[in-house]
Amino acid sequence: MRRVENIADMQRLADTWRAGGERIAFVPTMGFLHEGHLDLLRTARKMGTKSVISIFVNPTQFAPTEDFESYPRDLGGDLDLATEVGTDAAFIPPVDEMYPEGFQTYVHVDRVTENLCGRSRPIFFRGVATVVCKLFHAVKPHISIFGQKDFQQLVTIKRMVKDMNMDIEIVGHPIVREKDGLAMSSRNTYLTQEQRPVALRLNRCLKEAQKLVDSGERNAEMILKAAGDLLTTGGGATVDYARLCNPDTIEDVEVISGPTLLALAVWVGKTRLIDNCLLKAIKN
Ligand code: AMP
Repeated sequence: MRRVENIADMQRLADTWRAGGERIAFVPTMGFLHEGHLDLLRTARKMGTKSVISIFVNPTQFAPTEDFESYPRDLGGDLDLATEVGTDAAFIPPVDEMYPEGFQTYVHVDRVTENLCGRSRPIFFRGVATVVCKLFHAVKPHISIFGQKDFQQLVTIKRMVKDMNMDIEIVGHPIVREKDGLAMSSRNTYLTQEQRPVALRLNRCLKEAQKLVDSGERNAEMILKAAGDLLTTGGGATVDYARLCNPDTIEDVEVISGPTLLALAVWVGKTRLIDNCLLKAIKN
């Protein structure tokens, strides 16, 4: 696997591949890779003829109060794992390569970023859209794969690509979970043994909500009340949000009539976990 630290070198490699008729499939990450990331990379290998991972902890998506400095990092381990799954190149730019002195241009995606994580992390999606736009210009992919775990991020990137006429196919990848149901995340490493069962409530909550819908419940307020109770009973968790949204617009819904996104963000101690599912309302 090639390691590329410099934007111009990455662009040259991408140009060479493109000139040779290769199809570049790209997975942007912040590293500390787990099986979820590796699954995205395997998909990239299948969908393209050349696969690229980027590993970059992006400072512009973290607020000063957030965990940029302490975000888990293991570049050596990540490069080994990416090599094992057959990735062709790793783009690993230093921060000052991506944000040199004088940097002042940001990408703002409007309405789909307002709800959910946009409420509690006001600069987050500006940072994400900006860095993904820059990574796309460096890697020049034909296809890029994003996890549905970060559902609003996937919707935001799809919106940016469409609105800015970027000639890139954006592919959503299903959430990869641990055996016990916990959605894989680099931040799971922060959880203590005692916090883990608390963290499992997120996935249980998604399943219980689907059961409620299956039993005929369509009222969002009722479902969210049950979800809030399940998440907080027993203590140890603070709900940042639990919302039911239209999966295309990310606007709140009051009544479930079609596929509806149930999105959760929960603090377990100092760790903020997110999870989601699409609730299906089968007509009785
Ligand atoms: P991150 O390194 O957390 O920025 O994630 C990089 C990419 O991997 C994003 O597209 C995430 O949505 C995706 N991802 C992270 N965790 C999972 C998971 N458990 N299942 C599926 N995709 C994931």
